[in-house]
Amino acid sequence: MRKTIIIGTGPAGLTAAIYLARANLNPLVIEGPEPGGQLTTTTEVENFPGFPEGILGPELMDNMRKQAERFGAEFIRGWVTKVDLSKRPFTLTVEGTGELKAESVIVSTGASAKYLGIPGEKENVGRGVSTCATCDGFFYRGKKIIVVGGGDSAMEEANFLTRFASEVVLVHRRNELRASKIMQDRARANEKISWSLNRTPLEVVADETGVKGLKVRNNETGQEELIEAQGVFVAIGHTPNTKFLDGQLETDEAGYLVVKPGSTETSVPGVFACGDVQDTKYRQAISAAGTGCMAALDCERFLEAAEQAAVTSR
Ligand SMILES: Cc1cc2nc3c(=O)[nH]c(=O)nc-3n(C[C@H](O)[C@H](O)[C@H](O)COP(=O)(O)OP(=O)(O)OC[C@H]3O[C@@H](n4cnc5c(N)ncnc54)[C@H](O)[C@@H]3O)c2cc1C
Repeated sequence: MRKTIIIGTGPAGLTAAIYLARANLNPLVIEGPEPGGQLTTTTEVENFPGFPEGILGPELMDNMRKQAERFGAEFIRGWVTKVDLSKRPFTLTVEGTGELKAESVIVSTGASAKYLGIPGEKENVGRGVSTCATCDGFFYRGKKIIVVGGGDSAMEEANFLTRFASEVVLVHRRNELRASKIMQDRARANEKISWSLNRTPLEVVADETGVKGLKVRNNETGQEELIEAQGVFVAIGHTPNTKFLDGQLETDEAGYLVVKPGSTETSVPGVFACGDVQDTKYRQAISAAGTGCMAALDCERFLEAAEQAAVTSR
């Protein structure tokens, strides 16, 4: 049996692992389907403090992992398919390993950006296709950008990107937007934003030098059109990776884990959540790492209190 198991190896899980390993708690870390997390799918990371020249995403994650290993964190491949959080010790079923038991669990399984699922999209992530304006906007100074989406986050990303881009074209498959009126009004008042509504995205057009534009179908005329641009930002939401929990922890309506404000405590004592899986707002590497640290400290205190309680009841 383990004192603690960390699920996920993005910045949140690995930061928790560094802290718990340095506290002599020998955490076991389950890597999941994407070892190193989302940053392994990108190139330059320019906003993680401590790297004035920037650092490659995979290199940053490799460094974090080595730092956790140096203090005794152990890693296993595979992903968690099932949990039983109804009693302690908790039981986790890991693909390829079987059942594991732990006195405490840290969930840091992230939230995956939704994609359109069209040709040219996934293969050009980091080469002109992005799902994160805060992360990548800076790379598009003076360029024309397309933002796809009709909700609040699409409006927010489009507005934000006008700080860098020469022009932002908002593409949405319907004429009506889902975004709140205030967010729509703000976007409509922005002179750098133009609108291509009632257009269904068909293909991200790119060559070896990068993205050239987005092929769309005009739903009114049925004609195909090419909207030229050097960047395509897909802003159609995220899916928090919480399905394997099967409703055993409280979530909001979108599936994000709910934590007690100002802490990482979930609805089950001894289970903590950190990083994007509980963050509907910031979803950055540094905020994930910050909450990873919080989860480790909350977990340490929980284990200490549980030990004290066991001693006094003897
Ligand atoms: C292309 C791209 C570029 C980005 N660029 C930047 C940037 O420049 N700066 C920045 O601050 N942020 C950037 N971000 C956002 C940043 O990557 C995320 O905010 C951050 O990685 C979230 O960390 P996390 O630890 O919460 O989760 P993630 O990094 O998403 O890691 C989740 C982990 O959980 C594991 N997992 C999932 N399900 C299971 C399961 N069932 N069992 C076991 N393990 C599981 C996965 O394998 C993975 O290891 C970028 C994101 C993307 C996609």
